Amino acid sequence: MQAPKKTEPGLLLQILMPLVMLASVGLVLVLVVRPGGAPSPLVIGGIVVLLFAWIGVSVLWPARADRSCPDCKQPALVRIDPTSAVGLRCTACAWNDTTASGWYLAEEELEALEPLALEQRRRKALAKGAGMDTGNSAH
Ligand SMILES: [Zn+2]
Repeated sequence: MQAPKKTEPGLLLQILMPLVMLASVGLVLVLVVRPGGAPSPLVIGGIVVLLFAWIGVSVLWPARADRSCPDCKQPALVRIDPTSAVGLRCTACAWNDTTASGWYLAEEELEALEPLALEQRRRKALAKGAGMDTGNSAH
């Protein structure tokens, strides 16, 4: 059996994130506890810096889909159907879930999500139409 691949964040992130969280809490405390008056320019500047830092981190290091299998923990999840964003299976073990969302995986794999969304909408309309026909024929 292979050891699960390490998915912990990097050391720099492990050090920086608690400091960012503490700075955020500190800024909120300064903002809330300050008796009367408008928030100080330091607080406003801190909030603006954190906002731009958040945007910068999001742009430079965008989120990636978690491909870890819930059963064997290997990063081997793939979409069951390449034309659908619903349903995941593991290529390392026999795990699969036909109702799991695969939008994050599709977002990484595809150039654009619109064709996939339109296909899903078409399938849903067909299923709904088939259901409505059955309901109408009963009357
Ligand atoms: Zn698996």
